[in-house]
Amino acid sequence: MDLTVCQEHVELAMDMIIDEKEVAPKIELLTDEAQLSTSCEFCQNKAKYSISEE
Ligand SMILES: [Zn+2]
Repeated sequence: MDLTVCQEHVELAMDMIIDEKEVAPKIELLTDEAQLSTSCEFCQNKAKYSISEE
């Protein structure tokens, strides 16, 4: 699972991964132009972080 989210939804994404996978998620600040132009998984804001399971 790999979620791209805005600042506001980082915690929600982390909780989802923790609930589902029972692992601590990895948080990465997006730097790639293509990823920065995608929108948040949960709202219409621009994605800022990538949350992934390790
Ligand atoms: Zn959001």
